[in-house]
Amino acid sequence: MARASTTNGRKLTVRPPTPTTWALAAEEAPKTETAKVGVLSLQGDFLEHLLVLKHLGAAPAEVRKEEHLAGLQGLIIPGGESTTIATLMDAWGLRDAICRRAAQGMAIWGSCAGMILIASRLQDDRPKPLGLMDITVARNAFGRQVDSFAADLAVPALGPKAFHAIFIRAPVIVQAGPRVEVLARLQDGTPVAARQGKLLATAFHPELTDDDRFHRYFLDIAKGVA
Ligand code: GLN
Repeated sequence: MARASTTNGRKLTVRPPTPTTWALAAEEAPKTETAKVGVLSLQGDFLEHLLVLKHLGAAPAEVRKEEHLAGLQGLIIPGGESTTIATLMDAWGLRDAICRRAAQGMAIWGSCAGMILIASRLQDDRPKPLGLMDITVARNAFGRQVDSFAADLAVPALGPKAFHAIFIRAPVIVQAGPRVEVLARLQDGTPVAARQGKLLATAFHPELTDDDRFHRYFLDIAKGVA
């Protein structure tokens, strides 16, 4: 199993942009036509995703009920605690609704806990994932919260510049089916970002950096232009 100490990881020292930083940036956001996307806003760091999307001019929906999914081209399932998000998703009847919309072509980006939730298989007993992406995921693959770290990753799909990835009690992809394209790996080869059609998975937290390339990439996937 991959461990932070054997990767190009460093201990986590990054200070994420505050909501205020993104809110100020949103005032200067370009007003281009983006995909209509939403963020599952039940638990976890949905607010940070909403702010990045606002900064990109995307007018995101806060998804808490089935009707909030109407008309969406994409949905972000954020980081947080996957068992809690799954419990709330089931309590609000969102599980089947999200799977139905995915089958109709809605793009889904699962980040960290979100990646756990969109997987087809988990190495853990809990939570019950949505079974959308053909990957097997191991939760908490680097240890506990104190073992969180940051690593600069090559992500060719986003261009030549490395992506500063923040891993917080992060999962990893331990197996990926033939239709899955691995987008980024740790130095030891462990896959930590992947795409399968309109499904995107990242083990880390792009919304906690000031690099919005994963959000722009997802908006393009949702719009059908990436
Ligand atoms: N460890 C969490 C889980 O298993 C995920 C952590 C995160 O989303 N940053 O759900």
